[in-house]
Amino acid sequence: MEKALLSVAYIASSILFIMSLRGLSSQETARQGNLYGVTGMVVAIIATTLSSSVTAYGALVGALLGGTVVGGFLASRVAMTAMPELVAMLHSFVGAAAVLVGFASYLGDDGHEGSRTILLIEIFLDIFIGALTFTGSVIAFFKLRGTLSGKPTLLPGRHLLNLSICAATLVLVILFVQAPGTTGLTPLLIMTALSCALGVHLVVAIGGADMPVVVSMLNSYSGWTASAAGFMLGNDLLIVTGALVGSSGAILSYIMCRAMNRSIWNVIFGGFGADPPKGSTKAAPVTPEGEIKETSLDDCADSLLAAREVIFVPGYGMAVARAQHAVQQITDTLRQRGITVRFAIHPVAGRLPGHMNVLLAEASVPYDIVLEMDEINDEFPRTDVVLVIGANDIVNPGAQTDVSSPIYGMPVLEVWKSRKVVVLKRSRGAGYAGVDNPLFYHENASMLLGDARTTMESLLGKLKAA
Ligand code: NDP
Repeated sequence: MEKALLSVAYIASSILFIMSLRGLSSQETARQGNLYGVTGMVVAIIATTLSSSVTAYGALVGALLGGTVVGGFLASRVAMTAMPELVAMLHSFVGAAAVLVGFASYLGDDGHEGSRTILLIEIFLDIFIGALTFTGSVIAFFKLRGTLSGKPTLLPGRHLLNLSICAATLVLVILFVQAPGTTGLTPLLIMTALSCALGVHLVVAIGGADMPVVVSMLNSYSGWTASAAGFMLGNDLLIVTGALVGSSGAILSYIMCRAMNRSIWNVIFGGFGADPPKGSTKAAPVTPEGEIKETSLDDCADSLLAAREVIFVPGYGMAVARAQHAVQQITDTLRQRGITVRFAIHPVAGRLPGHMNVLLAEASVPYDIVLEMDEINDEFPRTDVVLVIGANDIVNPGAQTDVSSPIYGMPVLEVWKSRKVVVLKRSRGAGYAGVDNPLFYHENASMLLGDARTTMESLLGKLKAA
C-alpha cells in the first residue's frame, strides 16, 4: 500500500476511535460507539497488513488467529463481576508487547530515520512504562481474583524505595543513550528489572477494595506505552490511539477517585487504600443506635402498590444476584399501574464505572428513567418508597456524618430522606468498605433479607397477583 493511502487509512481509523469514545459516553449510543471502535480497528489492521513494512505474513496470520481465538473465548465466558480481572490481564499483554517491541527495535536494524538519541529515549521510555504496566497488571489480576491478599503490603520506606528506583532509572537512561551500537543492552535490562519491581511494588501497596481504580490507571499507562511505541516505530496511528487510551484512562481514574473521595496521587504512588480519605480523622467510630427491623414480601409489595413515587437504587448485590431482569419486570408492572419508577445510579455503584447502567440496559430498562446521583439526590424527600437492591456503601449516611469512617466525604445517595426505605440483601453484614451502615437502623428503614434475585422474583409474583 502506498504511503499516502496508508496515512488516509490511519486518519480514518483515528477519527473512528474518537467517534467510538464519543459514542461510549452514553447508553443510547454505546452500541454504535462500539461498532465505530471495531470498524476503526479493522481498518487499522488491514492497512498495516498491506503496508510495505509488513512482509512476514505467516507469523502475522498465526498471531492474529491465536489472538482472535483466545480473546473471543475469554470475553464470551467472562462474568460481568469478573470484568476488572479480564481488563487487568489484557493490560498486562499490552505492557509485555511494548517491552518486546522495544527490545526488538533496539536489537534489530529497523532503518529508523532521524535522531538516534531520540529513538533510544523512546525505546527506553516504552520499555520502562511497558514493564511497569506488565507486572502491575499481573499483580492487580491476582489481587482481584483473590489469589493474592487484598490487604495493602506496605514496605518500610516505600516512598524512598520508589524514588531510588526512579533515580537509578535516570542514571541508566544516560548510560543507555551514550552506549554505542547495541552495547546499551545491560543498562536496558537492569532498567527493565527495576521497572518490573516498581510495578509490583506500586500495586501490592494498594488495598484490594481500591483495585478497580488501579485497573483504570493501568489502562492509562498501557495507552502511554502504546503511544511511546508509536513514536519509536514512527507509527502515527499508534501515537494517536495510545494518547486516546492514556488520557481517557487518566480521566476515568480521576472521576472514580473523586466519586470515592480518594486522592489520585495515592493511586499513582501506591499506598492507596491504606490511608484514610481526605477529611476523615482517627476518632472512635460512631456506633449506630436503634435496632434493625425486618420486613416481609407482602409488606413490601403493599408499600410499592400504595406508592406514587418509587426509586430503585441498584448496587453490587444486584450484579451478583443477576436480578436486573426481575427488576425490569417489576418496573414494568408498577409503571403499568401508573406508579412513577426511577433508578438512582451512584458513580461507583458495583465494581466498574457504569456497571449498573450496563446491567439495566441489558435488561431493557428505559434510559430516561435511569438518573445519575446529581440528578436524583434532591428527589428523595418527595419519594414514597426506595428499594435498595444489593447496595450498601453508596447509601451509607455515615459518609456524611461519621468523621472516623473510611468512606467519610464520599458523596452518597440520600435514600433515608424518603418516606420508606427497604434494603434487599442477604445479611446484616457490611459492604465493600467494611463499615457498618447506620441506614439499616433508621426509623423509616427495614430489611428484606435474601438473595436479591429470589426476592425480586417473589415480589414480582406478589405484585402481579395483587
Ligand atoms: P457494596 O459492595 O458496598 O454492597 C453490596 C451489598 O450487596 C453487600 O452489602 C452485600 O450484602 C449485598 N449482596 C451481595 N450479594 C448479594 C445477593 N446475591 N443478593 C442480595 N444482596 C447481595 O456495593 P455498592 O454498590 O453499594 O458500593 C460499591 C462499592 O465498591 C463502594 O464502596 C465503591 O467505593 C467500591 N468501588 C466501586 C468501583 C466502581 O467503579 N463501581 C471501583 C472501586 C471501588 P450481603 O452480603 O449481606 O448480601
